[in-house]
Amino acid sequence: MSLQTLAPYAADPLKSIGRHHPEPLSETRNDFQRDRDRIIHSTAFRRLEYKTQVFVNHEGDLFRTRLTHSLEVAQMARGIARTLNLHEDLTEAIALAHDLGHTPFGHAGQDALNACMRDFGGFEHNLQSLRVVDKLELRYAEFDGLNLTFEVREGILKHCSIKNAKQLGDVGKRFLNKTQPSLEAQLTNFADEIAYNNHDIDDGLRSKLITIEQLSEVELFAKNLELVKAKYPKLEQKRLIHETVRRMINTLVVDLCQHSAKNIARVQLQDLDSVRKAPPLIGFSASVAAQNLELKRFLRHNLYHHYKVNRMSAKAERIVTELFNGFINNIGLLPQEFQEYAEADKPRAVADYIAGMTDRYAIREHRKLFAIEENL
Ligand code: MG
Repeated sequence: MSLQTLAPYAADPLKSIGRHHPEPLSETRNDFQRDRDRIIHSTAFRRLEYKTQVFVNHEGDLFRTRLTHSLEVAQMARGIARTLNLHEDLTEAIALAHDLGHTPFGHAGQDALNACMRDFGGFEHNLQSLRVVDKLELRYAEFDGLNLTFEVREGILKHCSIKNAKQLGDVGKRFLNKTQPSLEAQLTNFADEIAYNNHDIDDGLRSKLITIEQLSEVELFAKNLELVKAKYPKLEQKRLIHETVRRMINTLVVDLCQHSAKNIARVQLQDLDSVRKAPPLIGFSASVAAQNLELKRFLRHNLYHHYKVNRMSAKAERIVTELFNGFINNIGLLPQEFQEYAEADKPRAVADYIAGMTDRYAIREHRKLFAIEENL
């Protein structure tokens, strides 16, 4: 028995566009649950524990990793899906898979790998997440990848260049004919953004790279900080931050649910197909969208470009670039299975190998290649 009545325009696993390799239905789980389970059991998912977004893994155990980030996204996405009577299992699967293609060292690593791959088709982490679930996980006897449903795959591919979309077949089409993915995919994208903006504030404050005083110029933070201070005038800093951040998250999530519900009510949606043809329907109200944008700008300026973060990013870029050049110049340095693959497509094999590395693996691998005193 279901606790939730799904909206007629929610994604329905029984009406899924399907898997590349047809499989019989599970006796106990719907297809989206099954996809989520495949993602959790994948190698790439376990590696998220040692990959980071802003801070490098060895900088401390206090900070978010891509694994905890993905869990936070899944939690928020499920909550929003349930409020809007959409399919929670689909949002959960998309959320847990959305960052599988990230390189080590967050955006610094991705930018460096993209630069290395400039003449060979480039590197997009989003496209790489799809590549992980479509090709790179080698676990099943009958197919490469995880053979996920179309709906989960389209949700993973949030954005994509037109050039790549043309080569992707089914999941690339919507970028060419300008249609939308399911509401579940749309909302998971917002859950991702709400999660990282707010946990970056929390991590930024705890690392002392940003301060409460600086953040007081950000409306969304300042308003909620005042509410907490008025209610609890003597609160210690740690609790003050958490009470503020949780109110910020709540403001964003409640606004997103209410505004999206209004958008949905305004158009006539009969089914998922009408969702695809409608304009994007999940979104913030204008005033909260502006506050969210202000928060993002603050983080970009004060945290992501903090000189200490810049220093770490520069090191990360150097490591990724030197690994790439080292392998490209001598594929004999690659592990055996990648050497065979490199014979077919050298740059892509090297990019896949590097993208799969965790932060600490990349640091160790770099030392093994370049420090003479290291063994192998
Ligand atoms: Mg993310």
